Amino acid sequence: MFEALHPYENRLITYSDYLEFALESNCSKPNDAKGARCPVCTRLMKVRSGHKKGDGHFCHKDDKFCPTKAPAGRPYIGLPPSDIDPIATKLNQEFAQNNLSKIWNRLQSIVPFIDFKEFIDILAEAKRLRVYSYANLEPKLLPYVYVTLINFLPNKSFQKKRKLKFCFFYESEVQTYGDLWINQGSFSRLTRISYNNGKTQRVTLIDTNTAYLEREQDSLSQKQLEWCIKIM
Ligand SMILES: [Zn+2]
Repeated sequence: MFEALHPYENRLITYSDYLEFALESNCSKPNDAKGARCPVCTRLMKVRSGHKKGDGHFCHKDDKFCPTKAPAGRPYIGLPPSDIDPIATKLNQEFAQNNLSKIWNRLQSIVPFIDFKEFIDILAEAKRLRVYSYANLEPKLLPYVYVTLINFLPNKSFQKKRKLKFCFFYESEVQTYGDLWINQGSFSRLTRISYNNGKTQRVTLIDTNTAYLEREQDSLSQKQLEWCIKIM
């Protein structure tokens, strides 16, 4: 991958940032310095110079499992919620229904070329996986749960404009959706990763803010809203 977490700080760095870091750490070879970390599994990574200029990248030091290598390996998908509270579930679902346009806007800004049909697929998955029933779910953070529910493929994108495949991950300590908002001071780190022919390309940290709720926009038509609500 072309970006990784800084060895000590919660921010992404590029290959050339890392070379600079190694130089400042007085290391004669880049891989002698403290390694950058994988944004998802947080294990140390080594750097590899590419064949061409600008091809330098980070890779895992070992063959152990990391969700970034196998996008299907997101543990929180498929684990049903326990201790279902029907009142909370209903409130969460109503929150989503009342803010569909705003959620859609937020998804458009974090998923390149998201198609409305993909939004429909997400809502169907959310229902199937009973996402609204997770204990202590903070419904304002729903866009950041929704993006992890499907893989964003080029051929499903808006006017097929998406060139790469995109997947969203939480750091791998997150084993269930419940872990996202239980016993944590802040929301877990959300990462967007792009893939080209199965190879990890760009990594982007997604800001899980709730400012999207303050923007007043009617981006979905009445017909689209009805379609969404029907499958929720
Ligand atoms: Zn990893």
